Amino acid sequence: MSAAWEVVIGLEIHTQLATKSKIFSGASTAYGAEPNTQACLIDLGYPGVLPVLNEEVVRMACKFGLAVNATVAPRSVFARKNYFYPDLPKGYQISQYELPIVEHGELFITDGEGNEKRIGITRAHLEEDAGKSVHEGLDRYSGIDLNRAGTPLLEIVSEPDLRSAKEAVAYMRKIHTIVRYLGISDGNMQEGSFRCDANVSVRPRGDEVLGTRTEIKNLNSFRFVERAINFEIERQIDVLEDGGEVVQETRLYDSGRDETRSMRSKEEANDYRYFPDPDLLPVEISEAFIDGVRETLPELPDDKRRRFVDDYGVKQDDAAILTVSRALADYFEEASASADAQAQVVANWVIGDLSGALNKEGLEIEACRIPAEDLAGLINRIQDNTISGKIAKEVFEAMWAGEGTADAVIEARGLKQITDSSAIEAIVDKVVADNPGQAAEYRAGKEKLIGFFVGQVMKETGGKANPGQVNEVLRAKLKEGGQ
Ligand code: ADP
Ligand code: MG
Repeated sequence: MSAAWEVVIGLEIHTQLATKSKIFSGASTAYGAEPNTQACLIDLGYPGVLPVLNEEVVRMACKFGLAVNATVAPRSVFARKNYFYPDLPKGYQISQYELPIVEHGELFITDGEGNEKRIGITRAHLEEDAGKSVHEGLDRYSGIDLNRAGTPLLEIVSEPDLRSAKEAVAYMRKIHTIVRYLGISDGNMQEGSFRCDANVSVRPRGDEVLGTRTEIKNLNSFRFVERAINFEIERQIDVLEDGGEVVQETRLYDSGRDETRSMRSKEEANDYRYFPDPDLLPVEISEAFIDGVRETLPELPDDKRRRFVDDYGVKQDDAAILTVSRALADYFEEASASADAQAQVVANWVIGDLSGALNKEGLEIEACRIPAEDLAGLINRIQDNTISGKIAKEVFEAMWAGEGTADAVIEARGLKQITDSSAIEAIVDKVVADNPGQAAEYRAGKEKLIGFFVGQVMKETGGKANPGQVNEVLRAKLKEGGQ
């Protein structure tokens, strides 16, 4: 990308709130039901029915607002956003417009240079989701599934503070982490519970005014967000460098071709004829309600990360990885509590072998096959010299495969480390006697050969000799032999 251009990005993130029932009706929000079995007359906007606001939705939005240091509005208003679309039979979506429930928030990401960067959150408002058009398995016609109609969404709108696709992804990940910490969304991106629209523009570096933006709709993976934005940046720069103008429009990302395509010209707010929904009262939130919600806030990811660094002495980057999910952080803390080792050692195991094993099978930490206490048990056997770090890898594999605790595996497979010095000495004597040539070379100054001898001893012992001891005994014996 040319250094002459500055990229400007703002994200609108749609988070599905994890309520049991819909935002204005008692219909279930469960995913994956038979089409049109979970949409009731209220979700469809039949004449004569009245929506009733689900209080849980207000509580969740409030929780989010507090978590991002925002203002929770004492009074917010639902408005009708009027448009026609087959998946919206009532002809309008209930959303919030002029008076959203959350305003003026912020969060911090780590930018390209490793510095903390503040990203403003303009607002977060409540709205209902629409239904879905279904094409799969249908020949020459489309189906409409209205199960999703009326599902509660929190739309989180950022300031145009993001300056690269990477920053946009870091911001989106942070929001994803926060909503899951708060327990207000499952954040499931495959099921569409967490998706975003990316607004992208470029301007000559140094310019004050923003360039014309395009909006890429419905990105439902972090990878797609990054790719779609990068494609769009290049496209806009090409247009401008060819003397053309960027057209303000809505675009669609085609992941198969890795490109964005024009979908429709951008609608303006006044196209929607917003007006306050006459069927719903304004949402009034008292100080007492907000205080009550504040008491339910968990420790947030940034605080947890700092605590892991300050109290446990874990490296910054590792603390960031460990606190991406609450469950992973809990696992680490639980393992640390039972391990007689430095927390960083535990962190290395959790981030290294354990996360590797989980990733290989596409599992989340919640589905981890090794309880935290058992991982600590394994680490303790390395600490107390029962096994070497190398053998520990084998023990870990066996534990993952369901062979039981570290102690059980060590016992069953006979992996206990040989620390008996007379046993080690006997093996070292044998190895030195079997390799007189190498021994002579070593004595003549080719000290690198120590590695060869260590390897031979390990081979003799099936890797079970204590490596530190082997080294020490070898050096002594080789020296002796030379005198
Ligand atoms: P709308 O609701 O019409 O999409 P908003 O003005 O509310 O528009 O902005 C939506 C998002 O677009 C926000 O995240 C905002 O930061 C971002 N945005 C606005 N102008 C620009 C721009 N010129 N370049 C990049 N992002 C922008
Ligand atoms: Mg928009």
